[in-house]
Amino acid sequence: MDTKYGKALHDDTVAIHTGRRPHAHYGVVNPPVYHASTILHETVDSWENRSPRRYTEDERGAMYGRVGTPTLFPLEEAITALEGGADTVLTPSGLGANTLGILSFVEKGGHILVPDSVYFPVRKFCDGVLARIGIETEYYDPHIGAGIDALIRANTNLIWLESPGSLTFEIQDLPAITAVAKARGVPTAIDNTWGAGYYLKPLLLGVDVSTQAATKYIVGHSDAMAGTVTANATHAERVRSTWMGLGNTLGPDDAYLAQRGLRTLGTRMPRHYENGVRIARWLEARPEVARVIHPALESHPGHAIWKRDFTGACGLFGFILKPSERAQIVSMMEGLQLFGMGASWGGYESLMTTSNVTKARSVSPWQEPGQLMRIHIGLENADDLIADLEAGFERLAG
Ligand SMILES: *Cc1c(COP(=O)(O)O)cnc(C)c1O
Repeated sequence: MDTKYGKALHDDTVAIHTGRRPHAHYGVVNPPVYHASTILHETVDSWENRSPRRYTEDERGAMYGRVGTPTLFPLEEAITALEGGADTVLTPSGLGANTLGILSFVEKGGHILVPDSVYFPVRKFCDGVLARIGIETEYYDPHIGAGIDALIRANTNLIWLESPGSLTFEIQDLPAITAVAKARGVPTAIDNTWGAGYYLKPLLLGVDVSTQAATKYIVGHSDAMAGTVTANATHAERVRSTWMGLGNTLGPDDAYLAQRGLRTLGTRMPRHYENGVRIARWLEARPEVARVIHPALESHPGHAIWKRDFTGACGLFGFILKPSERAQIVSMMEGLQLFGMGASWGGYESLMTTSNVTKARSVSPWQEPGQLMRIHIGLENADDLIADLEAGFERLAG
């Protein structure tokens, strides 16, 4: 949230205006791309009193390329406003934002709680890097809610959250979990990529830190990678100092693309939402589909919580095909004209891939017999997407 004329601005306006300072840059609308390592000082006093933090109206606060430049500051500021936090740091990828969020809190001999439906590379990080340095990860059922209380130990450093979960889209009861976490004095951090800092405001639901793969909807055009870590006032210093210590800053060109993408977030998200729900409902009515997994559909087990906590949905969801031959699935997939097959999502284009979560779940084994699919609905005309899918289902049947 940001204010002007004493009134809170709406998110679509914040996405457009917050952080930009055209008149600090000859009136140019977008912040220039500062390629910088060295940043010069004019006086010994200024050199000796340099501070990596915050910049002033005349943009002279920058200290060194790694700790921020006027290309990064507008993006930090706008994401902070959208997430309702106190500060944001930028990382070279979304996974880098996740691992920074975790490393900001873990301590020697510590224990962290991670949902079973976590983004798989985070699981690999926990089972690999964290295990190697003596930090224990315990996976929990994403539907645990207040039951998380029973899993908290004296050495629990962090409760990690992700809602909806990756590939299987479980909705977590964030207020229930954060209430318990606060009572027990355990910090919480979430992967908020699906909500894009737009349709879910975790910090307003009591979560301490929100991370995003800005690679997805913030960048929005599949042409750059970036991550954001936003903290509330209590934890901002800790996150920023961990970020400083790790040295994982975002490069200027990618920061530029991310801030440029952000400016149209408020126009893109409603289109992803509307197109996504329309196609999810269309899929739900198809005889080839066993189940659609979209939180905005009444059929989703987490629908009531989604409705309470989210204000919309992005374009990413799942569905399960009725058991079919692999050759038919291949024929359906490979003939698609408008849906691409590839990792990542959040760009303007539609994507569809097969998913396999059998190795990615340790608490609740995945038992659906049919093929799990992940679909990203882009900004195309939904009628054209439906026609492409319809032809795909004909190949599936044939
Ligand atoms: C893609 C993704 C990430 C990682 O983002 P990268 O920029 O690809 O590193 C993290 N979390 C979720 C939920 C994602 O979908």
